[in-house]
Amino acid sequence: MSNPLYDRLFAPLAVRPGTFLHLDDGSALSGPEFLSMAHRAAAALRVLGVRPGDRVAMQVAKTPQALAIYGATVATGAVLLPLNTAYTASEVESFVADATPRVLLVDPGRLDTLSPVAGRHGTTLATLGADGGGSFRELCEAQSADAAIESRVEGDLAALLYTSGTTGRSKGAMLSHGNLLSNAQTLADAWRFTPADVLLHALPIFHTHGLFVACNVSLLSGAAMIFQPGFDLDALLKALPRATVLMGVPTFYTRLLDDVRFDRDLVAHMRLFVSGSAPLLAETHLAFEARTGHRILERYGMTETNMNTSNPYSGERRAGTVGMPLPGVEVVVTDPASGVPLPAGETGMVEVRGPNVFGGYWNLPEKTREELRDDGFFITGDLGRFDDDGYLVLVGRQKDLIITGGFNVYPKEVELLLDEQPGVLESAVVGVPHPDFGEAVFAVLVEKPGERIDRDAIDAMLRERLARYKQPKGIELVDALPRNTMGKVQKNLLRTQFCDRFA
Ligand code: AMP
Repeated sequence: MSNPLYDRLFAPLAVRPGTFLHLDDGSALSGPEFLSMAHRAAAALRVLGVRPGDRVAMQVAKTPQALAIYGATVATGAVLLPLNTAYTASEVESFVADATPRVLLVDPGRLDTLSPVAGRHGTTLATLGADGGGSFRELCEAQSADAAIESRVEGDLAALLYTSGTTGRSKGAMLSHGNLLSNAQTLADAWRFTPADVLLHALPIFHTHGLFVACNVSLLSGAAMIFQPGFDLDALLKALPRATVLMGVPTFYTRLLDDVRFDRDLVAHMRLFVSGSAPLLAETHLAFEARTGHRILERYGMTETNMNTSNPYSGERRAGTVGMPLPGVEVVVTDPASGVPLPAGETGMVEVRGPNVFGGYWNLPEKTREELRDDGFFITGDLGRFDDDGYLVLVGRQKDLIITGGFNVYPKEVELLLDEQPGVLESAVVGVPHPDFGEAVFAVLVEKPGERIDRDAIDAMLRERLARYKQPKGIELVDALPRNTMGKVQKNLLRTQFCDRFA
């Protein structure tokens, strides 16, 4: 009998010494305690009818019990389908209709709204609250902790993760035991995780970053986690002295830098800060180093592929780049039209192949064929180039590329210039419909608190630094850029908001 993810990530908890999860209320869970929780949850899932290959959806708060459900799905050979807690009932219904999970776990407060959804799709509903209570907990308590472990092979599905859909419809990425395990091993090695590590975990666990990068690496390497229910600046600052590693999205780092309590002494003992899921501004990278003496390690990955590239653990962590391909992962930059590989320095489509790359999109064979080549390369939709030293620089999503009057404009090039201007906190550049040019370059700016943006100075700078077709034809100030929970700017919303600007 073997079960790749169970054997490597969960079984070792039975004999792990010390604490596995530190919780904000001061309590803690040892490895064996957590494993018993996962085993009881596995038995409870079986009572609810879950069999190998069945999907188990959950839209629940981040708790140890929720993480134990991940272990339970692995043990029962089921496929975990975690859902963003912000999704509305109708969004949840679209995922339930697509994935037809056997079980849907929800917060008790959403029972009334989601019961009809579950009913329409033949899904069994159970509840799990932010305090760990609910019908699922009661069912778990009635089960024994000696769960039988289902046999699985590396190619068997372990998770169905829907993409965040910032550039289009969410698609269910099918991730196997082998995909997740190989990437966990690669990252644990690359980032030198050991049982002495304590990962400060403040990311959500419905996304690949918090669930797989953070939890799988900790489980595999024997590291402990300070498991926080979400991002809370005060709680994060309080926990930092007990942590050795922080994994965050760029907004974690900008918020920490905005707080005077975040200083060199507070993090002098830290081993590693990792950033990903959205671009970390070079300015943030440099400001972080100036404040703390640490260089943030930026990495690049996505739901479909797990992690692809990383700045080196030892070696130069280069601001504004996402580092080099991870061992075992091939990354090429190709001509988007022909698919032919391009030399270093030229910008094109980032394609990725390796044991980390998913098997396809659930129920979408055509979409899978469009994006996953026969030779195994996945066309990521990200545009980038390798610099002369082999570091990958991302310039944006292909769907964000602006084609104005037949010329290509990479939003990032314009954004980087705007971000440097006095008074500019951040910027987003999008293409909006234009009667003459097809699309027009349009910039959205946010002011730094207490400062003013000088529009004339910005116009003059743009005229001097950018070819005319790259210069924004309109600039708008907003209070904040729309972002999803992973800190990604939702350019689709900006394009909609400003779509009739030149109509
Ligand atoms: P998701 O599937 O939600 O993880 O989103 C994946 C996308 O996030 C990638 O295709 C990139 O566009 C973006 N992304 C992830 N990491 C980075 C990074 N370090 N810098 C810039 N973009 C990133």
